[in-house]
Amino acid sequence: DAKRSGRGRCVVYASPLGEASRRMHTVEQALREGLEQHQFELHFQPKVDAVSLQAMGVEALMRWEHPVLGSVSPGEFIPAAERSGLIRELGALALQQACFAARELPGLSVAVNVSPLQLMEPGFVESVERVLVRTGIGPSLLHLEVTESLMLEDPQAALRRLHALRELGVQVALDDFGTGFSSLSYLRAFPFHTLKIDRSFVRSLTEHADARAIVNTIVRMAGVLGMRTVAEGIETERELAVVRAIRCDEVQGYLVARPMPLARLQDWLAGRPLTGPIDDVDSRITP
Ligand code: C2E
Ligand code: MG
Ligand code: MG
Ligand code: MG
Repeated sequence: DAKRSGRGRCVVYASPLGEASRRMHTVEQALREGLEQHQFELHFQPKVDAVSLQAMGVEALMRWEHPVLGSVSPGEFIPAAERSGLIRELGALALQQACFAARELPGLSVAVNVSPLQLMEPGFVESVERVLVRTGIGPSLLHLEVTESLMLEDPQAALRRLHALRELGVQVALDDFGTGFSSLSYLRAFPFHTLKIDRSFVRSLTEHADARAIVNTIVRMAGVLGMRTVAEGIETERELAVVRAIRCDEVQGYLVARPMPLARLQDWLAGRPLTGPIDDVDSRITP
C-alpha cells in the first residue's frame, strides 16, 4: 500500500481521498464487531493538584485494540463512531465502566468524555442517573467533559441538558478550552465547574509571553466565575512551572502520568507519597 511504498513516491498521490475514505469505512465496520467482542477498554489518566501534585481525579480515555488493525486511536474511532451512530453504545459503555472504576478509586473523581450526539440523545440524563444509582458513587465524583462543539446545533437545548445534569449533582467540565471560537459567551451562559485548557495553549506557554498573558487571563476569569482550571498535556517541568506560576488549579499530562489501565493506576496511586511538603515539590520542579 501507499504507506509501505514510502513517502514521496507517486503512488501516494494516486487517490489520497479514496484511501482515507476506505480506511474510514473499514474502521466503521470494525466498530460494531469490536463492541460485541469487548475490544474496548478504558484507561485512566490522573489529574493532580498543581501545587501539591496530589491526585484529585482521573480522566477515562477509551482504548481500542483490534485483532487486525492493532490499536486504533480515539482521534480516529470516536469520529467514526459519531458518524455511524455507535457513539451512543460506546458512550454508554464508557460511562458504565468509568462509574464501576470510580468505586475502586475512593476519593477520586472520574471524568468521562461525552460526545454531543450522546449528550443530546433522549434519555441521556436518566441513563446517567441510573448508572449512579446502580454503582452507588457520589454524583459529584462523576465529571462529564464536553466540548464547545456541543453548542453548535441547538445551544438552548444543550444548555437545558447541562442544567439537568447539574441538578443530578454531576460536575460538568468544558474540555479543550481555547480551541473553539465563541468560548466567552458560553462561559457566561453556563456555569461549568471546570475549564480544561487545551494542550495547544499549554505548548505555547513556555515560548510566547502573549500566550502566557492569555492563559493567565483565562485562569483569572475562571476564578471570577467560580470555575476550576485544569491545564492539559503538561509534558515538561518548565510547562508545569509556568502553569503553577499563573495558578492553574490542576494539571494533567505525560509529565505526571500517561493514561493506564485501572490496575496499573491503582499501583501508581499506591506507590507515590500522598502529599509531599510543598518545599519538596518545589525542589523537584524548579530547573
Ligand atoms: P481529550 O478529552 O482532550 O483527552 C486528552 C487527550 O490528550 C488524550 O488523548 C490523552 O491521552 C492526551 N494526553 C494527555 N496528556 C498528554 C500529554 O502530556 N501530551 C500529549 N501529547 N497528549 C496527552 P486520547 O486518549 O488519544 O484521546 C483523544 C480524544 O478522544 C480525547 O481528547 C477525547 O476528545 C476523545 N475521547 C477519548 N475517549 C473518549 C470516550 O470515551 N468518549 C468520547 N466521546 N470521546 C473520547
Ligand atoms: Mg477530555
Ligand atoms: Mg482535552
Ligand atoms: Mg481533545
